[in-house]
Amino acid sequence: MTNSISERIANIRASLPPSVRLIAVSKQVPTELMREAYSAGIRDFAENRIQEATSKQTQMQDLPGITWHFIGHLQSNKAKKALELFNWIHSVDNLHIAQRLDTLAPQMGVSPQICLQVKILPDPHKSGWMIPELLTDLAALDQCKNLQIQGLMTIPPRGLDDEEILHLFHRTYQLAQEIASQNWHRLKMQHLSMGMSGDYQLAVSAGATMVRLGTILFGQRA
Ligand SMILES: *Cc1c(COP(=O)(O)O)cnc(C)c1O
Repeated sequence: MTNSISERIANIRASLPPSVRLIAVSKQVPTELMREAYSAGIRDFAENRIQEATSKQTQMQDLPGITWHFIGHLQSNKAKKALELFNWIHSVDNLHIAQRLDTLAPQMGVSPQICLQVKILPDPHKSGWMIPELLTDLAALDQCKNLQIQGLMTIPPRGLDDEEILHLFHRTYQLAQEIASQNWHRLKMQHLSMGMSGDYQLAVSAGATMVRLGTILFGQRA
């Protein structure tokens, strides 16, 4: 990758439908490069570690209008800090953490945007609901009145070919449709957070509304 960050951003932005939100995954990326991305128009940054995000947000305080997205596994004891730092949490992966966030949010005066992380295929390396468990937990999730549950997030297991990945993204789309058709009070299914550097085009073709891109923007992480 010899192009500059701003050229890469411009190229990818031009290849995406305008309605798809481009989220720059800046984990392990120094703030100098994040500033370059900001100058090129990026306003959505995603991090997966609370501590790293805390220090970067301090360093980038002078840049207005950033939306911060959390994409890592969230432990209960970090829930409060996550609500302090992030507008979106894409990686809510079990009912317990959802309920914890729901309890904390009003105490902190926030109303976080949430995606439910789902595993379409079993994957020992990833957290998230399997489909039957998610369907079981929907009624309780719908009671989380302080969360703005906006949709689903998924990450394909490693080692799938393009056809299998596309199938998995389609299945995620269908699952969102199925949940939307159940007419819950609060649960919304307007967003699908799926697609990383290696598979975002497949994700977009299957209906992704947010893609989370790291390597393809910033280069290989250390
Ligand atoms: C690291 C990460 C990404 C970005 O991955 P790239 O392959 O570098 O684009 C996206 N989503 C999640 C959840 C991640 O942890």
